[in-house]
Amino acid sequence: MAHDIHIIGGGLAGCEAAWQLARRGFRVKLSEMRGGGGATAAHHSDTLAELVCSNSFRSDDDERNAVGLLHHEMRAMASLIMEAGEAARLPAGSALAVDREAFAANVENALEAQPNVKIVREVVDSLPESGPTIIATGPLTGSALAESIAQVTGTDRLHFFDAIAPIVHRDSIDMDTCWLQSRWNKGESKDDRAAYINCPMDKEQYLAFHAGLIEGEKTEFKEWEASTPYFDGCMPIEVMAQRGVETLRYGPMKGVGLDDPRTACEEFPQGRWPYSVVQLRQDNTLGTLWNMVGFQTKLKHAEQVRLFRTIPGLESAEFARLGGLHRNTFINSPLLLDRQLRLKSRPWVRFAGQITGCEGYVESAAVGLVAGMMAADEMACNVWTPPPRTTAIGALLAHITGDAEAASFQPMNVNFGLFPPLHDVAKKQRKEAYTGRAKAEMAAWLAGRERLKTAA
Ligand SMILES: Cc1cc2nc3c(=O)[nH]c(=O)nc-3n(C[C@H](O)[C@H](O)[C@H](O)COP(=O)(O)OP(=O)(O)OC[C@H]3O[C@@H](n4cnc5c(N)ncnc54)[C@H](O)[C@@H]3O)c2cc1C
Repeated sequence: MAHDIHIIGGGLAGCEAAWQLARRGFRVKLSEMRGGGGATAAHHSDTLAELVCSNSFRSDDDERNAVGLLHHEMRAMASLIMEAGEAARLPAGSALAVDREAFAANVENALEAQPNVKIVREVVDSLPESGPTIIATGPLTGSALAESIAQVTGTDRLHFFDAIAPIVHRDSIDMDTCWLQSRWNKGESKDDRAAYINCPMDKEQYLAFHAGLIEGEKTEFKEWEASTPYFDGCMPIEVMAQRGVETLRYGPMKGVGLDDPRTACEEFPQGRWPYSVVQLRQDNTLGTLWNMVGFQTKLKHAEQVRLFRTIPGLESAEFARLGGLHRNTFINSPLLLDRQLRLKSRPWVRFAGQITGCEGYVESAAVGLVAGMMAADEMACNVWTPPPRTTAIGALLAHITGDAEAASFQPMNVNFGLFPPLHDVAKKQRKEAYTGRAKAEMAAWLAGRERLKTAA
């Protein structure tokens, strides 16, 4: 069968993209290396859409949870992954958990029965030189293909590890304790000179925090993660702490050049430098998410929440994501991709799934879904209108294709911090307000697409 588009990678994103294209009448070649001489360190079978770890698609609550909302939107867009998940559903309270074998079999059977899809078991070693293509090879992309991607994108724009520092919701930071200032007031503009949120610590607080880092329970590296050389470039904060009690105070937690306005006096009208400081830097254009600078960590999640809430100003911090270090191949999408997930330097190549810098089964499938829709519209010469940013899928897409800060870009789960904020709504009602707005705007967007189709 000749094909209209080549999808590389038969995981969650690749399968979803293939489904979306095939049901719109396009002939898809879907290349998957497992079963064709390739393997990853995490997959155990040759089945398409294998879930490599947990069997959960997380919360299915579409009224108060961003990932639950994403489920809702994907169902509205006839997602194969959601349909296969529903058919393999297990009891799990408000979460959507699945029988992993039944789920993967449902996906594979649906694609095998779809006449427009040809599944080819083969390792693809380089980026195709021409023809519509979707790269959906995931966090464990085959090494030759990864090298080929690095050659095209530049090695510094393809990451093999996500060294993630925690990201905090801005509205949960106590700005009576913290202040906005760049070190030495450096910067051209007023915004540049106030680009960091500073959380000050006195000596006692610093020493207690240092002890907490040393004693905190850590996650172990898997053997194949420990041997990935990139690790040296992103040292966890607790490893740095182990090098000596002063190391952090001369590293990411140094207080020099930062004037704490609460200590202003006649002698120091701007305020004094704190003994130590934790800095946060803006992480998205909306200014709703801020990352803790230099705080990549292998501390266990519960330990991170407990310890980081002892930092002055972060006592009530809500985390959009916690820190971690994992093997993860992903590109610097905000720099490399256009708003339609196309590689700017090779516009016939789209990226989808976790390799774009989204994180999670559902998010990866969602980006596969939307990549399939975009490719179908392009091949049908339809004008693409993106889903509104107020929807979960629109917010995620906007984040990875340009709204995230490219310099600190790290993989991201869907969360309400990516949504245009609703400051006027009381905090208690905000989640319902986000999901209500998203559902209405998603319905309107889908109706608009239907009207265009009927008119054509
Ligand atoms: C160890 C690990 C555990 C994870 N656990 C979870 C979890 O519990 N929950 C969660 O929500 N997310 C988890 N993730 C994150 C992520 O959501 C999943 O990895 C998800 O499967 C990503 O979907 P994807 O389609 O982008 O990639 P994948 O599902 O990995 O699919 C990519 C496919 O491409 C194939 N492939 C790779 N290179 C080539 C090549 N050169 N030629 C042909 N085929 C190729 C692979 O064999 C694979 O089938 C985990 C990730 C890892 C690495």
